Amino acid sequence: VSDEVRDLTVVGAGPTGLSAAFWAGMREASVRIVDALPEIGGQLTALYPDKPIFDVPGHPVVLAKDLVELHRRQTLEQFDVPLHLGTTVESIAHEDDVVVLRTTDPEQPELRSRAVVLAAGHGAFSPRRPAEPDLAPWEGRGVHWLVTDRAAFAGRRVLVVGGGDSACDWALELAPVAERLGLVHRRDTFRGHEATVRRLHEAAAAGRLDLRVPWRVHTLHGDGALEAVTLQHVEDGRLEEVACDALLFQLGFKTALGPLAGWGLQIERGAIVVDQLQRTSLPWAWACGDVTTTEGKLKLIATGYAEAAVAVAQAVRSIRPDMRLQPPYSTTTGVPGAVAGVPS
Ligand SMILES: Cc1cc2nc3c(=O)[nH]c(=O)nc-3n(C[C@H](O)[C@H](O)[C@H](O)COP(=O)(O)OP(=O)(O)OC[C@H]3O[C@@H](n4cnc5c(N)ncnc54)[C@H](O)[C@@H]3O)c2cc1C
Repeated sequence: VSDEVRDLTVVGAGPTGLSAAFWAGMREASVRIVDALPEIGGQLTALYPDKPIFDVPGHPVVLAKDLVELHRRQTLEQFDVPLHLGTTVESIAHEDDVVVLRTTDPEQPELRSRAVVLAAGHGAFSPRRPAEPDLAPWEGRGVHWLVTDRAAFAGRRVLVVGGGDSACDWALELAPVAERLGLVHRRDTFRGHEATVRRLHEAAAAGRLDLRVPWRVHTLHGDGALEAVTLQHVEDGRLEEVACDALLFQLGFKTALGPLAGWGLQIERGAIVVDQLQRTSLPWAWACGDVTTTEGKLKLIATGYAEAAVAVAQAVRSIRPDMRLQPPYSTTTGVPGAVAGVPS
């Protein structure tokens, strides 16, 4: 419910934000998480899901996506944490003792909490767009940047654009549900994993999808909704029109501190200045993880975890001044704020 006031809103569902929500649960504080991405995991999901990480203490090696899954189990399976994904926080204000976050979600344009924990990394992730053609007129009319619901592609003539892992993966995932599927890439080699690229070529050889390389998107056509796309061969310039009613761009992500820079926080070197208590220059906002800067700052997953614990302890104590700062050991208490039956 959009007018529900939670104790904390955590901005960012990267490893720091997920651990902040976990610490909030352990403190029996109510919490929610907001992230611009359609999935949890921050940089680990958007930039390197299949890379092994070697320096998360206690894990000699862990794949980024497996670490995200462990966070999902620890935070979202144990606590009641509403997740607002695909939602960018555009502005933040303090009104009548409540922090009000204004978001891009038309159904929940305002989120209210007593304090806020900013775990916003390098800023909100947004999909990388091609310089041309101008796709703005086609937003919501057949051009897609993310797959939030694969049913949107079922029975459609789909073109996926891109040459990296996510383009290759989505081409393979959507081919069985689409009426026809083409993968358009401006080079003739793909940057996806070797095994994925092999599967792509096998699917193409079996007639399950078309590989359009080296081609690029030239023009979009349609009366109201998208009906066809003209592709241009990158080497000889020849044009070809292809029937298409769903065009999915998968060109990677970019981040921008963006709106956050205008929230009245003290910003240096593109990051929020915090003190050793993770306090920002706003009395109701704490920050942790990659989004912060301080003397000796290390931008690592492990340091984000510790900063999240401090930020949440401070933020919850600002709401409940009688709370002991040092939590009792979990070996003694178990998981105090756990909610039975929270769906995974
Ligand atoms: C290729 C690569 C390899 C790495 N390898 C390692 C490694 O081996 N070990 C290590 O410790 N670290 C590594 N890192 C760094 C590590 O990924 C970061 O330190 C970590 O992701 C920081 O976590 P975070 O939660 O603070 O921020 P992020 O992971 O960046 O998450 C922040 C989230 O906040 C969201 N957000 C921001 N602003 C808004 C807004 N206004 N509204 C809504 N959502 C918003 C973003 O969409 C994002 O999902 C690596 C990074 C990269 C790119």
